[in-house]
Amino acid sequence: MFFKQIQQHGDNFSYIIADEGTKEAAVVDSSYNADEIIRIIKNQNLQLKYVINTHGHSDHTAGNTELTIIFGAKIVAHKKSILHPDLSVDEGDELNVGKIFIKIIYTPGHTTDGICLFVDHQKLLTGDTLFVGECGRTDFPGGNSKSMYDSLFNKLRKLDDEVEVYPGHDYGAKASSTIGEEKKSNYTLQPRSLNDFIEFMNQP
Ligand SMILES: [Zn+2]
Repeated sequence: MFFKQIQQHGDNFSYIIADEGTKEAAVVDSSYNADEIIRIIKNQNLQLKYVINTHGHSDHTAGNTELTIIFGAKIVAHKKSILHPDLSVDEGDELNVGKIFIKIIYTPGHTTDGICLFVDHQKLLTGDTLFVGECGRTDFPGGNSKSMYDSLFNKLRKLDDEVEVYPGHDYGAKASSTIGEEKKSNYTLQPRSLNDFIEFMNQP
């Protein structure tokens, strides 16, 4: 698998996932990195099939138009997204990019349209749901601490420790992590009851 984390402008991460055999590719969160994404796609001779958005915030979707115009890629987002995507997805849906399988995990909490992308049961792209050492804010419109608890504790925390974590922003001590490491060291993932978590998230 060709897998590349891109951080060109600001602290947003974009990702390119591609099947090296078929050359089919997907971008996750175009963000402010379209110029670098375009360069890599052209360099590697990739065919961009999807631009997948982990949620609709503009810092994650900023490069969408450029990528769709240049490559004719389809915009993919959760069915509750305000983006009017070409392809709407929901919990459990699977996309294929060549021989690579991308499973959709619906993770609201930061927004109502938040999704994580589980790539070949090995790499988890977490958008603004989970960062290295932190979790997403729940105080923006559409944010909800109860949903965030469900996403973090009933979905992400239950994945295998070996699963690699690739967040939507460079907020942590390093650019990527694993579920096991985050369970140990991420203060937002420490065991809490739902009520304790809601109180914790509302702390200033
Ligand atoms: Zn966001």
